[in-house]
Amino acid sequence: MRRYVIAGNWKMNFTPSQATAFINEIKPMVAGKDNCDIIFCAPYVTIDAAMKAAEGSNIKIGAENVHFAEKGAYTGEVSAEMLKEIGVEYVIIGHSERRQYFGETDETVNLRTKAALAAGMKVILCLGEVKEQRLAGITREIVSMQTKLDLAGVSAEDMKNVIIAYEPVWAIGTGLTATPEQADETCGQIREALAEIYGAEVAEATIIQYGGSMNEKNAAELLAKTNVDGGLIGGASLVAAKFTAIVDAAQ
Ligand code: PEP
Repeated sequence: MRRYVIAGNWKMNFTPSQATAFINEIKPMVAGKDNCDIIFCAPYVTIDAAMKAAEGSNIKIGAENVHFAEKGAYTGEVSAEMLKEIGVEYVIIGHSERRQYFGETDETVNLRTKAALAAGMKVILCLGEVKEQRLAGITREIVSMQTKLDLAGVSAEDMKNVIIAYEPVWAIGTGLTATPEQADETCGQIREALAEIYGAEVAEATIIQYGGSMNEKNAAELLAKTNVDGGLIGGASLVAAKFTAIVDAAQ
């Protein structure tokens, strides 16, 4: 039985004081809604304030990326050890914006994933096809290949700490959403790729979220699908009422 995970990706939004105000607003709104894990992934400088505001609640605060090296000459990057020390448990890796604008590849996504797991963190690994790939009918091949490349060298044991976020790139921040059937089908294809690597037991146990313009209107239908175990939410994670409605849909 897989548990729903509803995660917000704040991207480059919310200063520390804005994050504090947001968490204080949403905390009572999601209190007691324990049928899902609730996570907000925040910009590095905002993590600490968000964590303090979330203390004692059912909200966890994660990071939006992590570097693969332990330390060294990587200006502007943050290591897993640094995140661990301030109490970060979850980290998004491989978001399409990182791949698109910051040159990340399946190879660097794989290195970051392994570094985060080695440090004892939980990874939200993002993957998904671009519009041309969906139109060309090669979505299955693309998500299957990404699953295999991004998880190369990750053990079956470590898969307990991996959540996969299926995020069709054409649906992120565009207002376009995969239909519940498309989301279910592609999450299922990712599960099949996991079964090829790790066997059926690990594949069935792995949480696979859908992300891409999930909102208060479409969440219930998407989350009702067998292979959709939660959501990774961008825009709607910045509005307390919208995010709470998605949490409600997972109850
Ligand atoms: C995301 O950033 O992962 C995302 C899915 O964004 P949005 O919900 O805004 O499409």
